[in-house]
Amino acid sequence: MSNPSLLILAGDGIGPEVMTEVQRIIAWYGDKRGLNFDVSEDLVGGAAYDAHGVPLHDDTMAKAQEVDAVLLGAVGGPAYDDLDFSVKPERGLLRLRKEMDLFANLRPAQCFDALADFSSLKKDIVAGLDIMIVRELTSGSYFGEPRGIFTENNERVGINTQRYTESEIDRVARAAFELARKRGGKLCSMEKANVMESGILWRDVVTEVHAADYSDIELSHMYADNGAMQLVRAPKQFDVILTDNLFGDLLSDCAAMLTGSLGMLPSASLGAPMENGRPKAMYEPVHGSAPDISGQGKANPCACILSFAMALRYSFDQGAEADRLEAAVESVLASGVRTADLMQADGGTPASTTEMGDAVIAALDASL
Ligand code: NAD
Repeated sequence: MSNPSLLILAGDGIGPEVMTEVQRIIAWYGDKRGLNFDVSEDLVGGAAYDAHGVPLHDDTMAKAQEVDAVLLGAVGGPAYDDLDFSVKPERGLLRLRKEMDLFANLRPAQCFDALADFSSLKKDIVAGLDIMIVRELTSGSYFGEPRGIFTENNERVGINTQRYTESEIDRVARAAFELARKRGGKLCSMEKANVMESGILWRDVVTEVHAADYSDIELSHMYADNGAMQLVRAPKQFDVILTDNLFGDLLSDCAAMLTGSLGMLPSASLGAPMENGRPKAMYEPVHGSAPDISGQGKANPCACILSFAMALRYSFDQGAEADRLEAAVESVLASGVRTADLMQADGGTPASTTEMGDAVIAALDASL
């Protein structure tokens, strides 16, 4: 059997810095666990624009369609701010998501005990938090037609359309139920069925999918506004939250901030299964290219490392190895080794990006 394949697109700013640490961890898995990957690398974002005049070359897009998973760092930066919209670095990312049809965006909100003080909420409300938000990513009000700014009765009207088909709801609901089955067995679906027809359909289809194939999962429904309130009131009541593109954009950012720093947040975007049974998949940290700290060795590599842990779990069926990597990160944080973003003002000397990578690898060694 050939090794699973990974395409690394490190991108811009701190993207290549944090990805270097991930590549060391990928090498560790090959050396110490016999888990080898065929890794290739390519350009995305501003780096691709500099080389090819486009933020994603067609050849890179073709490679992304062929591999088992894409690992992406970050794109963007001030040097590209004035480019035409069609070639901005972010367009490379959007093209990947669109052409790979990555319809399910997974954003875990996990609060490591050692970081509970970094949350804006009280420690006992967030300590041990472990929830997963599944956001529909390729439809809904960010894509629905008609859209645009029109003139009616001598004034401008801005229009976006919230539109979902049954099959779009069905496929993302299935992805979320499958996750719930691998986690705590609970799923809460959030919409606005009280005021939106698309919400009524969303609730109907989720209920039907549950009855047909997932009656072992505890399903509840909640209006998305109440969901936002509950996320800051008592977030630990949730296991998996399923929601649409617009509400998911807001709710996942809200949940993310429960956990403290942007430097800790991974994500996965999954599509339909490929011929080998693995889903189309791209894994990336939630943060951007952080131009304010790039090139200074200050970036926290944990979000990117934890994104690789998600790849181990969701693309490569290596749940135990994903647990090992997450536990290694947690033990490093508990030991007090931290990058600057995770330190209080009087916290001592921060670890560099490389030192953080060293510490995670030492913790992986210690786990053997
Ligand atoms: P950002 O996430 O890059 O940075 C926000 C703040 O968080 C900065 O102060 C930064 O230093 C800090 N930060 C982010 N990641 C960190 C890490 N790993 N370790 C330590 N500190 C970290 O967001 P921004 O400043 O709004 O955007 C900068 C650029 O990134 C823009 O060009 C934007 O378009 C782009 N962007 C890209 C993505 C992506 O690639 N997915 C996401 C968001 C923003």
